[in-house]
Amino acid sequence: MKPMRCPICDTPMPGNWQDYPDYPFCSKRCRTIDLGRWLNEEYRIVEAAPEEDRPPLPPPDEQE
Ligand SMILES: [Zn+2]
Repeated sequence: MKPMRCPICDTPMPGNWQDYPDYPFCSKRCRTIDLGRWLNEEYRIVEAAPEEDRPPLPPPDEQE
């Protein structure tokens, strides 16, 4: 059975996952980094949304 590795810093994590309170990360620091990346990705998606992708506004109703 090959040892687990931290997905953030690639540190080998021998033993059982139960030994790691921050599993699947090796430490609280890596957990925080992962969370930060995830949040940054979310923000980037929102900010990068081109205006063309927004649904067009309905035409103004000029009839009376
Ligand atoms: Zn790590």
